Amino acid sequence: MEETGTRLATQIDFERDGKQCDYLRLPHSVHRSAYGWLPVPLVCIRNGDGPTVLLTSGVHGDEYEGQVTLTRLTRSIDPADVTGRIIIFPMANYPAAKAGLRTSPIDELNLNRVFPGKHDGRLTEMLAHYIDTELTPRADYMLDLHSGGSSLMYLPSLVLRDAAMPADLQARIIELGRVFGAPYGFLFPATRGWGGTNMRAAIARGVVAFGTEMGGGGTVTPECLRICEAGVRRVLRHVGVWHGPVADDEEPAVEPRMLTAESWDYFTYASEDGLFEPVVELGAEVTKGQRAGLIHTPETPWREPTEIRFDQTGLVVCKRVPGRVERGDCLFHLGADMAEGDW
Ligand code: CA
Repeated sequence: MEETGTRLATQIDFERDGKQCDYLRLPHSVHRSAYGWLPVPLVCIRNGDGPTVLLTSGVHGDEYEGQVTLTRLTRSIDPADVTGRIIIFPMANYPAAKAGLRTSPIDELNLNRVFPGKHDGRLTEMLAHYIDTELTPRADYMLDLHSGGSSLMYLPSLVLRDAAMPADLQARIIELGRVFGAPYGFLFPATRGWGGTNMRAAIARGVVAFGTEMGGGGTVTPECLRICEAGVRRVLRHVGVWHGPVADDEEPAVEPRMLTAESWDYFTYASEDGLFEPVVELGAEVTKGQRAGLIHTPETPWREPTEIRFDQTGLVVCKRVPGRVERGDCLFHLGADMAEGDW
């Protein structure tokens, strides 16, 4: 019979009580290490029976707010305050996270496009397969912490829909998003063009799963970190898996402003190579046809710049960070308000 199980190994026993901190062993046989493995950090905090919450970050290695949040939670959660199980996977695409890159420097793959992965695939595909067959099936809830990464900066947002799902599951996800309490909540069309995401795979398994887009720009900001950590703690408390204290400086949850982006018109792209001069900032309310920016060509400074305009009306929730652009790079992404009853 063909062997289709994971090739990754861990000494963590998911059924054992207490806080176990160890490495998932990702086999990687190379010149300097014939029988070697890559150490992917994995934490399991269990105390008796109860719900299981899976917390992931570092699916994109250059998104740091979630990785810092889960590092802090790993240290601060006392198993005595847990009922059930919290599984923490802070550097999900470990080679990418170690290198501070969106994609793996070993196989160039984007972990959030290769789910459900392959048991005998490239390293990134094997990581997706491990998450999908060993971690997600144990989970009742999953939070996948993302941000804009090196090239984009987001207003602190939740991603509450990324796939088609039953209405009752969607309602539970929206309820939990409100408990998290970030300023913005995105409900993308279920038909959004990119598949293979961690969240989509979890939804397919019936897990109450949602994601975040917390800042970005290859940095960590105090504001996003505060929103992210407080949000995760509120969710853990709400589902009954953790009974830890409310931090002295924890503010109450804010009601997310619910947004959508029904078509690619809500995404603004570079039409030329060059140097991008944005003329609006993150958080601006813009209208269809309004100027978004100019693309300059310092190589031919006598040439008129190319004007970029918005193709839709909405709130600027995401903006490109680096100045140099190539045709096809995303410059802005807008959100349109959703009325309650529309989701
Ligand atoms: Ca991301």
